[in-house]
Amino acid sequence: MRELAVGGSLSVVEVGARDGLQNEKELVTTADKVALIVRLIEAGARRLEVASFVNPARVPQMADGEAVIAALPDRADVSYIGLCLNKRGVLRALATREGGRRGVDEAGCVLVASDTFGQRNQGQTIAEGLAANREMLRLAREGGLVPQVTISAAFGCPFEGPVPPARVAALAAEMAEAGAEEIALADTIGVGVPGQVVDLVSLVREAAPGVRLRAHFHNTRGTGIANAWAAWQAGIRVLDSSLGGLGGCPFAPRATGNIATEDLVYAFERSGIATGFSLEALIAANHWFETRIGRALPSAVGRAGDFRATGAETGAGAA
Ligand code: ZN
Repeated sequence: MRELAVGGSLSVVEVGARDGLQNEKELVTTADKVALIVRLIEAGARRLEVASFVNPARVPQMADGEAVIAALPDRADVSYIGLCLNKRGVLRALATREGGRRGVDEAGCVLVASDTFGQRNQGQTIAEGLAANREMLRLAREGGLVPQVTISAAFGCPFEGPVPPARVAALAAEMAEAGAEEIALADTIGVGVPGQVVDLVSLVREAAPGVRLRAHFHNTRGTGIANAWAAWQAGIRVLDSSLGGLGGCPFAPRATGNIATEDLVYAFERSGIATGFSLEALIAANHWFETRIGRALPSAVGRAGDFRATGAETGAGAA
């Protein structure tokens, strides 16, 4: 049994199979996506992004979403998230459950906190995004999916620069009122810093009391794990991460992507916070997936390994 020095536990949403793969240029086969998800579940993942219901012409990597979902293990202790950018996405998410099939469990909706980013990415202003998400959340709930929403570009916009925290808080309040069961604050382009995380979380909590908050960080500028820790200190208990740090940043082509699940699990478990993951299994999954995509993944712990596994700590070979 693990001794918990700090107490409490962190819930991790594994986004590798969706956010992580979405920026991969080479198509990953459906079989490899399913095998990746199965390995992540075996390593301890209980909530996973598994597909994005986007236009397959725009995002060919996500074109096999329905096929991936149909092949997933039907486990009662696992929640599958389908990303929905519009009403059509929610309808596709609902359709995965037709005919008594397992399908996805959660509709992960997305609201962009910047007019310019929203228009370029989804052809929507913030106001249009709000209206669309209200309907999407309602449809998801009525269809039996957990309605949740990610506020993207919450820490900065690649076109407009800083995003006013008061705006993000107001959007969160609107989404809570529209029935979101969870609201994620996403640093989509990886510009946030720990002090900003603390401030934004406190503003959002004031504006939308009672709704569960989640945070999504990218390690684009090396602040990912520090931001995750700041979020924990600010009371966030659900964080997104991807195996190996899979997932790039379309606005910083040479940069790494999401914070790595291995790095997050290492930092939190060694701080006495349970995550439910086996770090050994994650590292093994990382090394397996490297053989599938033919390159090393950016995760630091994936490369360096677990400290506990070294002779120095176990005493093996120590003088
Ligand atoms: Zn991401």
